[in-house]
Amino acid sequence: MKATYFLGNGKFETKEVPLRKPEADEVVVKVAACGICGTDIHIYHGDKGSADVTPPVILGHEFSGIVEEIGANVTSLQVGDHVTVDPNIYCGSCHYCKIGKKNMCRNLFAIGVNRDGGFAEKCVVPEKQCVLLDKKIPLEYGAMTEPLACCLRGIDIADIRPGNTVLVIGDGAIGLLMVQLAKLAGASKVILSAPIDSRREIGLALGADVVVNPVKEDLLGRIREEFRSDGADVVIECVGSIQATGQAVEAADRGGTVLLFSVPKAGATYCLSMESVFQKELKICGSFVNPDTHGRAAALISSGKIRLEPILTHAFPIDQLEDAIHMQMRADSIKVLVKPGITEMERNSGIAAR
Ligand SMILES: [Zn+2]
Ligand SMILES: [Zn+2]
Repeated sequence: MKATYFLGNGKFETKEVPLRKPEADEVVVKVAACGICGTDIHIYHGDKGSADVTPPVILGHEFSGIVEEIGANVTSLQVGDHVTVDPNIYCGSCHYCKIGKKNMCRNLFAIGVNRDGGFAEKCVVPEKQCVLLDKKIPLEYGAMTEPLACCLRGIDIADIRPGNTVLVIGDGAIGLLMVQLAKLAGASKVILSAPIDSRREIGLALGADVVVNPVKEDLLGRIREEFRSDGADVVIECVGSIQATGQAVEAADRGGTVLLFSVPKAGATYCLSMESVFQKELKICGSFVNPDTHGRAAALISSGKIRLEPILTHAFPIDQLEDAIHMQMRADSIKVLVKPGITEMERNSGIAAR
C-alpha cells in the first residue's frame, strides 16, 4: 500500500510499504478520507507539548473508511462496513482510567500520532476503536467524526441548557461545528464571532442567529444588544489566541460559563481578572479529547443532523500531504481532507472534498 510517513523536521515521504496482517482483535480499514487537524500542523512545525511523536510515523487521526479484512476474533464488524476510527487508546489500568477520567490516562496514545494512522491507503486498527457509519452518508463526512466528538466533549462540559444564549468565538471548522451543536443543545440564540466574510455567511447557513465581525464591530456591544443582558450564558472559544481568550472572559454574562476549547500554543498564558471571576461567578473550563463521545458523534453524522458540506472545502491525494497541510493553514480553506482514492478529475478540480 501507499503511505505518507512523517520523518520529523517538517519532512514527509510517500512510499509503497507492505501492509501487516491484522491481529485477532484488529481490522484493516481502507481509508476513504482523513482530515488535517491542528495537531498535525503543530507536529509538522515541531511544536512541543501538543503530541509526542517518534518519527518515522504515518500521521492522520481523523479518518473514515471501509473494513477490508477482519481478525479471527472480530465479532462486531464485517467486511464492507463503513467505519470511523476513534484514535485515542486508553490503558484501562492507570489511576485516571480507574476513576472514570480515561481522557486523563497516563498512558494515552493515539492512532495517527504515536502509531501509524490514516494518511495511508490502509490502516490496521483495533476492532474496539471502530464505530459504524450509515452507508447512506458520504464517507468524507465520517472523517469529521473525531473533531465532532471532541466538540461534543466540550458541549457536555459547557452544559448548555435549553434557552441559554451562546457565543461562539472563531470561524474555523470547530467554530462552525460548535454553532450547530449549541443549537442542537437547545440554545435560544447563538452569536458567531467570525472575522472572515465568507465564514459569516456559512455560519448563518449552519444555524447561527447572529454573526458579528469582531474586527469591524463592537462585539460586546452587539452581544448585549442581542442577548439583552451583560453577556452570553455560555461562551465557546475556538481560536487559540490570547485576544480571543480575553474576549471570551469579557463576553460571559454574570453566572456564565467560558469554555476555552482551542488548542493553545505551547506555553501560552493569559492574565486573568480575579475580580471578574469572583464578581461574575464565572466557570472557566477546558476540554480534552473525546472520551466516550465518538459513538454519539458518528450517530449525529449518520443522522444528517450536522451539516458538513460547507465545511469540507478541499481534498488532496496522499502524496501531496504537505500541500494539504499548507492549504489547511490558509484562510480560504476550512477543512482539508486527504483522500487516498481521489480521482484524476477530483484532483484537477482543486476543490474536491465531496
Ligand atoms: Zn484532531
Ligand atoms: Zn490509563
